[in-house]
Amino acid sequence: MNSDQKIISFEDTAVAFSSKNNGQLKQSKWLFKFFGNDTLVKIFSKLTLFAFKIKLPISSIVKKTIFKQFCAGETLEESDKVIRKLNESKIGSILDYSVEGKETLEDFEQTKNEVIKIIHLAKKNPSIPYTSLKITGIAPFEILEKLNGSATFTEKDNEEIKTIEERINSICYTAFVSKVPIYFDAEESWIQNTIDALAEKMMRKYNKEKAIILTTLQMYRWDRIEYLQNLIIAARKENFKIGIKLVRGAYMERENKRALEQNYRSPIQPTKEETDKDFDKALTICLENIDIITLCAGTHNESSTQFLIDEMNRLKLSPSLPNIYFSQLYGMSDNISYNLANAGYNVTKYLPYGPVKSVIPYLIRRAEENSGISGQMGRELSYISNELERRKELKLLK
Ligand SMILES: Cc1cc2nc3c(=O)[nH]c(=O)nc-3n(C[C@H](O)[C@H](O)[C@H](O)COP(=O)(O)OP(=O)(O)OC[C@H]3O[C@@H](n4cnc5c(N)ncnc54)[C@H](O)[C@@H]3O)c2cc1C
Repeated sequence: MNSDQKIISFEDTAVAFSSKNNGQLKQSKWLFKFFGNDTLVKIFSKLTLFAFKIKLPISSIVKKTIFKQFCAGETLEESDKVIRKLNESKIGSILDYSVEGKETLEDFEQTKNEVIKIIHLAKKNPSIPYTSLKITGIAPFEILEKLNGSATFTEKDNEEIKTIEERINSICYTAFVSKVPIYFDAEESWIQNTIDALAEKMMRKYNKEKAIILTTLQMYRWDRIEYLQNLIIAARKENFKIGIKLVRGAYMERENKRALEQNYRSPIQPTKEETDKDFDKALTICLENIDIITLCAGTHNESSTQFLIDEMNRLKLSPSLPNIYFSQLYGMSDNISYNLANAGYNVTKYLPYGPVKSVIPYLIRRAEENSGISGQMGRELSYISNELERRKELKLLK
């Protein structure tokens, strides 16, 4: 073991919830209990979408409940309180302007300007070490999909592609001159070739000295290990650095459904075990090439997190090495984030923000990811319950 490496317990709930008061913990418990009921989550998802569609005034209820658990605020200014709070526990924030499903030119320009605003803020604020970009927030889905295959393009398409590339370049250039690295999020496989190509182009351009542009690999796809290996070969040959965020992937059901409907082989691994195996294998590959890679492990999986710690130990890599980050979504797995940060590892939380109505698709994904009696929801609930129990025994709870 490295001399500066400590043993970590993800079960230390006193550390995990040190920044939450009793009222906040009780509210989280209520929410995760609600997620435990699959049927209620399905009804909630449908009703919320419908209520917003017919303009029912439900924003304030959503904002006080699920939004508060998973989002930092409606604006950058409103998010500042959460950023400061995380920073007190040595956890960085990755601000994610989480508006989705936008379609107009004005929307795309507005999102681009907001991302640039985050970069300028991050430049002056070390508690925001990275930022992120969802390509569908700044480009029409249909064009990204068209670019993914071998479609023919109209003149209007070509103009639109040029504008998209300019938009992306202006964000990446700002990140480069501000020295604020930016993650490209991964999305559905039928637009992912396009996102990969754009991310690679920007990496070749801006990652000559340091990884400013980071791409995301979804390890629920069976083709990503090969993709990673080829990217490393290209980077070594052409002399650029690689930024990699590893995740398992958030669109599994949609992917499998489309593959079945359109009768092609699903890009998703046949089993969860294979996803887990490839996730850990990718961690090892990244660590073994850490001289040219900046790695972010975006996961709530305790076994993969422990595996990364063990691998860093095996390869004698210091916990505070600046190009290795652990990252969890805000509102989830505080037991991992706070205990890792407390032990000296680099940790960030993905911090979505945006108008309540616009972040609804993100919130529904979180509710669905946390639904069901097993898995993540069960883990969150049991840690929160343990902490409430601990506080009760210590008479810290009234
Ligand atoms: C910092 C951060 C950034 C993120 N960015 C992105 C992003 O850019 N793009 C994106 O898509 N997601 C992103 N996510 C979301 C992420 O994909 C999910 O949070 C993640 O899949 C949950 O998995 P886990 O690693 O926490 O572990 P676990 O809870 O152990 O794994 C659950 C995941 O395993 C996979 N899985 C489950 N069942 C099966 C099965 N039968 N077969 C194959 N695979 C299966 C699915 O991906 C499922 O979500 C991000 C998450 C974090 C923390």
